[in-house]
Amino acid sequence: MSDDCLFCKIIAGEIPSNKVYSDDDSYAFHDINPAAPVHVLVVPKKHICDMQATSDADEALLGNLLLKANKIAEILGLKESGYRFVINTGPDSGRTIYHLHLHILGGRQLELSAG
Ligand code: AMP
Ligand code: ZN
Repeated sequence: MSDDCLFCKIIAGEIPSNKVYSDDDSYAFHDINPAAPVHVLVVPKKHICDMQATSDADEALLGNLLLKANKIAEILGLKESGYRFVINTGPDSGRTIYHLHLHILGGRQLELSAG
């Protein structure tokens, strides 16, 4: 856990969140400012800054994150209608939180836009 990290505090229950899913290594909650009818963030419980901070040693963590996100998309009822995963990384991405997180977006037809 990183003491000054918002998402570490959410995972620890120190800051409230609208939880969707939790297990030993992942936590998922509704985004506070949704960009689609369904907008959920999936985070590894282990603090890791972003994709640029990962290495080959994180293969299991990253594989797990994607597979958990798939499972959570199904829990959210998006399996048939479809969904999008987004992981923002680095300054040009507009990333605001420095704890790796995957956005699940769905619930409407999504345009192919870089924003
Ligand atoms: P990013 O731009 O990829 O860093 O995304 C960070 C996301 O975290 C944004 O979509 C925010 O709306 C969301 N967010 C920030 N604070 C909270 C919070 N306390 N609870 C839920 N989502 C949050
Ligand atoms: Zn953190």
